[in-house]
Amino acid sequence: MFRLSHSKAQAFAECRKLYWFRYVSGEPWPAAPPNPAGCVGTGVHRAMKVLCETGDPADGAHELGVYLRMPAHECAGPGTEAHRLAFQFYEAGCAAHASIDSEKRWAEIDTWAPWPSRGMTLSARIDRADIVRGSGWQIIDWKTGAFEVDEVTDAQLDIGHVALRTSQRMMGDAPVTAVAWNLRTGTRRVRALQKEDARATMARLANLAQRMQAEQGFEAMPGTFCALCDWRQRCPEAAEVETRGWDAHAAPEET
Ligand code: SF4
Repeated sequence: MFRLSHSKAQAFAECRKLYWFRYVSGEPWPAAPPNPAGCVGTGVHRAMKVLCETGDPADGAHELGVYLRMPAHECAGPGTEAHRLAFQFYEAGCAAHASIDSEKRWAEIDTWAPWPSRGMTLSARIDRADIVRGSGWQIIDWKTGAFEVDEVTDAQLDIGHVALRTSQRMMGDAPVTAVAWNLRTGTRRVRALQKEDARATMARLANLAQRMQAEQGFEAMPGTFCALCDWRQRCPEAAEVETRGWDAHAAPEET
């Protein structure tokens, strides 16, 4: 079955050649150098997972501290601004955790949602799920970035919703509140989701999977995303746009 994930769908939407590099070409992935924002994001997510599992803020703090002390993460090591921010975000995460009146909770649901008759299986995950006293199911995707693209965040929450219904084998109509909770800004983006929404998400992704499998050209679509693309050094189309820009479009007599 064709395997689909949020990141795979995003790559296909952003640039067909990026998608090709990552998922079709078989080329080894470029080693991405550690960066402070990445280390902070991963470290805080690991700490929040431990906090959800044990309920003791000290356990998450220890996990975060050890992770940031690793030589590979020295760009966010002790004494750096990134290190300070990581603990600031984790503190906000502890406050968020304490504010949830949870009857039962799960950390990092990571599952597959196969759909054999449509020939696809969805890799679906969410950072945390709770049964909240008096209001039912809630899922959370923790964010630490300075900004989010709402459309992308919503797509991620919708896939998290599928992850919950699949892993909990929720066949009934219980509604789910899906929250993208930014620990840097305090912003909470909330979606009220129902069983039919999960079905619609799966149907949309199955249709997308069909298009992805039929794709043949994989044309480069250079844009602002190229600045963050790990494959930039292997992409002549991006280099041409950056170096020649609109000169490449000019009529010969204008050049
Ligand atoms: S550098 Fe830009 S155009 Fe090239 S693969 Fe990456 S995103 Fe696509």
